[in-house]
Amino acid sequence: MSKKVDIIGGGVIGLVLGLSLARSTVDSETDYQIDIIEKEGTVGSQSSSVAGYGIRTVYRHPINLYLAQKGLQFWSHLGEPSDTGFRRNGYLFLTNETETSRTLRREQNRQVSNGFPAELREPAEPTEFTTESIATYRSGLFSPISAVSDSTRSIEKVRQLCESEGVSIRTGEEVVALADEGTRCRVETTQSSEHADTVVNASGVWADEVAQLIGETVPVEPSERKLAVLDRTVDPDMPLIVDIDTGFYMLPGHDNTLYAGGDFDHGGADESYRSLLKRYGSETYDRLSDATVEAVRTGYYTMTPSKVPVIEQTGNVIHVCGFSGHGFMQAPGAATVARRMILSNERNIIKEELLSSNRELSLTDIQF
Ligand SMILES: Cc1cc2nc3c(=O)[nH]c(=O)nc-3n(C[C@H](O)[C@H](O)[C@H](O)COP(=O)(O)OP(=O)(O)OC[C@H]3O[C@@H](n4cnc5c(N)ncnc54)[C@H](O)[C@@H]3O)c2cc1C
Repeated sequence: MSKKVDIIGGGVIGLVLGLSLARSTVDSETDYQIDIIEKEGTVGSQSSSVAGYGIRTVYRHPINLYLAQKGLQFWSHLGEPSDTGFRRNGYLFLTNETETSRTLRREQNRQVSNGFPAELREPAEPTEFTTESIATYRSGLFSPISAVSDSTRSIEKVRQLCESEGVSIRTGEEVVALADEGTRCRVETTQSSEHADTVVNASGVWADEVAQLIGETVPVEPSERKLAVLDRTVDPDMPLIVDIDTGFYMLPGHDNTLYAGGDFDHGGADESYRSLLKRYGSETYDRLSDATVEAVRTGYYTMTPSKVPVIEQTGNVIHVCGFSGHGFMQAPGAATVARRMILSNERNIIKEELLSSNRELSLTDIQF
């Protein structure tokens, strides 16, 4: 017997799912053909190439935590750190606000009760965590097991593994029509017309457009985000540092180049992203004031109202989208959930209704 799975989208979600499916079906009696169909000329060229690739465990929502835990396991074992840039530098959340300090205290308790180390400092003197001269804050929460990685290297590693596991990666081909015919789906692309037993919608910020091809909708909204590359090298062990009050964050790249970003309140002013970044960033890291922004990468967070992704099956189509800025760290967990839906019709890995598009969730996570 043979089965075909078409994954629409060759971003980190589609690639990690393709790899996960291929590895799980290698000894199966059923012959699985797994195709990733990507409209761009290369995989991972959209939001997945922009990501800062931080992987954290500090989440309030248990689903985000479950997904991110899977991410830490996967990315830490994917290859040599020199191949992927994976480094367990930790995350340092900082605030000067009284209410946010309380939130950090609660987060520390939650982390510790979930079995993760988390250190609270009041006041927080970041020089304790890095040789860089970072401002002192009222409170800081340090999560030592959180990690940073490198987008280009990690995507390339997963792409290579997909190919060696027999996943077919079809670039420069766009899915333009879909029809669920009951037992299988018809998939029309710019190059072919074919049938698949299961279709996965892993098309990132285009997920609602793709869902509409079969008359469905998913509750996702694009939110433009930027990440800047600066002309500075920094302490290679520096944690990913976030000023929760301004949204500014910074992290060391794989070659120790400083990466920095944030979703700043533009206040209606015509100020360029470069100058906003330097204005807010130098409050945390004064060396930023005389640094040059060499490049600004632009991508999108695919937001859901609750900031928890949607992993939902309708007929033969599974939507895997809405990662709300956490798609790199959550891709392996999402792949586990979607893979089990595909291979064993197993829906109760984590409470299915919490990942469906019509759930009502009240908890939100610290977002930056
Ligand atoms: C500035 C920035 C910083 C970030 N930092 C982090 C971070 O630190 N940690 C983290 O975990 N996440 C981070 N993210 C989020 C992360 O990048 C995304 O969640 C992740 O890349 C989403 O992956 P994806 O595969 O869903 O989407 P994408 O990478 O956008 O992939 C979707 C793919 O689908 C293709 N496609 C769309 N429609 C079709 C079609 N009809 N036919 C064929 N192909 C189609 C697109 O071309 C695209 O390649 C960050 C994002 C940004 C922008």
